[in-house]
Amino acid sequence: MNVLIVYAHPEPESLNGSLKELAVDTLKGEGHQVQVSDLYAMNWKAVLDEDDFKERMNPELFNPIMEQLNAVKKEAIPLDIKEEMDKVRWADVIIFQFPIWWSNFPAILKGWVDRVFFNGFAFNTVEMQSYDKGLLKSKKGMLSFTTGASRELYTDEGPHGEIETIINYFNHVLFELVGMEVLPYFAIFGPGAMSEKQREAELERFQEVIQNL
Ligand SMILES: Cc1cc2nc3c(=O)[nH]c(=O)nc-3n(C[C@H](O)[C@H](O)[C@H](O)COP(=O)(O)OP(=O)(O)OC[C@H]3O[C@@H](n4cnc5c(N)ncnc54)[C@H](O)[C@@H]3O)c2cc1C
Repeated sequence: MNVLIVYAHPEPESLNGSLKELAVDTLKGEGHQVQVSDLYAMNWKAVLDEDDFKERMNPELFNPIMEQLNAVKKEAIPLDIKEEMDKVRWADVIIFQFPIWWSNFPAILKGWVDRVFFNGFAFNTVEMQSYDKGLLKSKKGMLSFTTGASRELYTDEGPHGEIETIINYFNHVLFELVGMEVLPYFAIFGPGAMSEKQREAELERFQEVIQNL
């Protein structure tokens, strides 16, 4: 199995960094092929803008989604995006590893999605290719994240709302839209308030999930 880990944390020694390393070691130990897109280490450009489109179909008015389609047709995709698309093409499974920031992805990871899941590559608005006709149909996607808040704060009664609702939304608009199958998410809630032993148990739980991927 080919696994791409898209990893978004600015500190290699963070818990997210450890989860990423554990996933790489475990997958390789099981005989799988692994590639990592370490977005901070790559200094990934997070913002989709006009600089991504050197051969514009309309130089007067910038329409990002139509320019994406045009860039695919003209094979005028910037190298950093093309390299990520090659990794996506290669992957059977894509894991996003990240800390929850503002109940969402860190901006650098959202920017990876904005710039890599192109119209004409991951879906196609003109050919109506999305969801069951999405262009990344044969692949599986998994969200793996940590929170600052405890699980109790991410419930319907808690201040942040139910995490399942938030994650179901991400899975739907991200993976399902491009045709991918959703794998169950993995989360560590409030690791800062845990004992060392509890955190070690969470890392073991993660390793089991990865082994059974
Ligand atoms: C801009 C911003 C917005 C945020 N918004 C939210 C939000 O909306 N909701 C929310 O819940 N939280 C939020 N947070 C908090 C954030 O989600 C957590 O700080 C983050 O998930 C913790 O993950 P980490 O990898 O940074 O952990 P770290 O801080 O690196 O580690 C957490 C704990 O685990 C320990 N640890 C690290 N590595 C290991 C290891 N290998 N083995 C055992 N223990 C280890 C550390 O010593 C520490 O005690 C936000 C934070 C920021 C910066």
